[in-house]
Amino acid sequence: METKYIFVTGGVVSSLGKGIISASLACLLKARGYRVTIQKFDPYINVDPGTLNPYEHGECYVTEDGHEADLDLGHYERFMNEHTSRANNVTTGRVFQSVIDKERRGDYLGKTVQIVPHITDEIKRSVKLLGKTGRYDFVITEIGGVVGDIESLPFLESVRQLRWELGSDSLCIHLTYVPYIAAAKELKTKPTQHSVKNLQELGIQPDILVLRTERDIPADVRRKIALFCNVAPDSVIQSIDVNSIYKVPLKMHEQHLDEIVLRKTKVTPEGEPHMKPWMDFIHKMDNATETVNIALVGKYVELQDAYKSISESLLHAATYADRKLNLTYVHSEKLTDENVEEKLGNQDGVIIAPGFGQRGIEGKFTALKWCREHDVPTFGICLGMQCMVIEFARNVLGYADANSTEMDPNTSHNVIDLMEEQKSISNMGGTMRLGAYDCALRPGSKAAEAYGSEQIRERHRHRFEFNNDYRDRFEAAGMACVGENPDAKLVEVVEIPGKRWYIGTQYHPEYSSTVLSPNPIFRSFMEAAVAYHEEKAAK
Ligand code: GLN
Repeated sequence: METKYIFVTGGVVSSLGKGIISASLACLLKARGYRVTIQKFDPYINVDPGTLNPYEHGECYVTEDGHEADLDLGHYERFMNEHTSRANNVTTGRVFQSVIDKERRGDYLGKTVQIVPHITDEIKRSVKLLGKTGRYDFVITEIGGVVGDIESLPFLESVRQLRWELGSDSLCIHLTYVPYIAAAKELKTKPTQHSVKNLQELGIQPDILVLRTERDIPADVRRKIALFCNVAPDSVIQSIDVNSIYKVPLKMHEQHLDEIVLRKTKVTPEGEPHMKPWMDFIHKMDNATETVNIALVGKYVELQDAYKSISESLLHAATYADRKLNLTYVHSEKLTDENVEEKLGNQDGVIIAPGFGQRGIEGKFTALKWCREHDVPTFGICLGMQCMVIEFARNVLGYADANSTEMDPNTSHNVIDLMEEQKSISNMGGTMRLGAYDCALRPGSKAAEAYGSEQIRERHRHRFEFNNDYRDRFEAAGMACVGENPDAKLVEVVEIPGKRWYIGTQYHPEYSSTVLSPNPIFRSFMEAAVAYHEEKAAK
């Protein structure tokens, strides 16, 4: 069949969950056997989100092919159980960069280069890029921002043109908000009406409305919205708050979102989506009665989106271990020798978070020393793994000033350092080791046991590395380098074999955990935490 293009736009306010609605639709269409992908178009001028502080847009997600992407791509992968790529995330900056490069090369043959048609053509080309591969029946395009934003205009103009060109091979889903005014005891439809009017002024008629709401929207209110917005009554769907984002696909299916999309794009809906494995996951999540307590030690605790993929991976792992996840964010800047027992004493497992720079680093060492000495299941990710190495060097090997050269360029024990070939590069955008690399795991190690394999591939996002000059000294003192990149010989995994579970990974396993394929090392960590919980309870 011809590739169908679904556009998802948002109105009224941001943070309504366009990403979750897009991902839920993709999940349902995939469960019907279609080949689906989702792409995110972000209206900011950064070329990619890699240089953005997590306080701006939350976590920076990394794709297999090494693209630093918006965190929504993480949701897409977790819901679709399929990899995304660089082509799945386009920003205004990327679009402009490409147009300006073409202009400099003389590709426009002396013409005046303008938003319409040059920028819009570039956007349209990007929209169709994945569709043209022939690999997808449906390409869902989420347009970031809110209708009415100046920044979104070129994207929406491109959607208008594409809807016109593609006809029934495309449709637009518009997500809005229906607030409940407690004093009047009423759900209000006016913001939705205005938002749709805005969209219509731009020449786009939404085909389906998804209304985000905290209360059930009665049929007569939905009919009213349908009437004012030129949308069929059965295409006005509510997205009511649920206690887990993973229930949204089921809520959407109850209201036939997948069927409506198929019918409107002239595909005959057959049978039902195969959601059994998904429902099994939800069933486990709803029926777990026992809790597992995990602490995440990091410096961005005010903004939990900064660790989105980690918290989701922990949730996947806890659910498959039939436990409710009780996740506590512990601020690494506030952790001291005096309060570490109080903060971590009741935890069944501790995660030491990734990160950049000096801030909060000492608290990570404090946490690690305490966890190592009290044999608590501990998982260090990226900077967390580097901190494991540094803490071990300081307190076991006795190198009091051991450090990463990221934190102290003059340390005499640079147990974490840049690789030689990186030292000459100074451009912030281009120096990181990004994307998936092979890793060979030592037979018999806990890590190999966790994966059930000695050959794995995981994603990276870092500059600094374990310094191989120290390898023998670590091995001799009890910290084993059990994972290694076969080509570069870089250390990817360390563990202390005698401990309950003390593993650090230079890579980020959280990027590859999905609802239907939870990441094995998170599962192994969770099983160790659950066992430790039970061991303590039995005492
Ligand atoms: N700052 C460290 C590095 O660049 C770790 C990065 C991370 O945790 N993602 O190597």
